[in-house]
Amino acid sequence: MYSGLLRFRPACSSCGLPLTPYDAGDGAAVAGIFIVGTLAIISVIVVDVKYQPPLWVHAVVWPLPVLALAIWVMRVAKAALAAAQWRHRQGEIES
Ligand SMILES: [Zn+2]
Repeated sequence: MYSGLLRFRPACSSCGLPLTPYDAGDGAAVAGIFIVGTLAIISVIVVDVKYQPPLWVHAVVWPLPVLALAIWVMRVAKAALAAAQWRHRQGEIES
């Protein structure tokens, strides 16, 4: 379904459904912010309270897993939003 990290292919590689009409807008980013932001802040607080590491440890440890999780969540959310558009707006999307 994807040709890059977050870019749809022009068409589905399995069934040939054109994917260009499907636009998740900011929905995938909102899902990423809400889900990953919440998980990241809870994780940081738990680790900080439990282990009290110096600040630089947080700066080194968190960016990579948060970025990876954000990309994964946004891919899932974007695909889910495209599926919802396909399901509910078939008459409106010309394909
Ligand atoms: Zn398909």
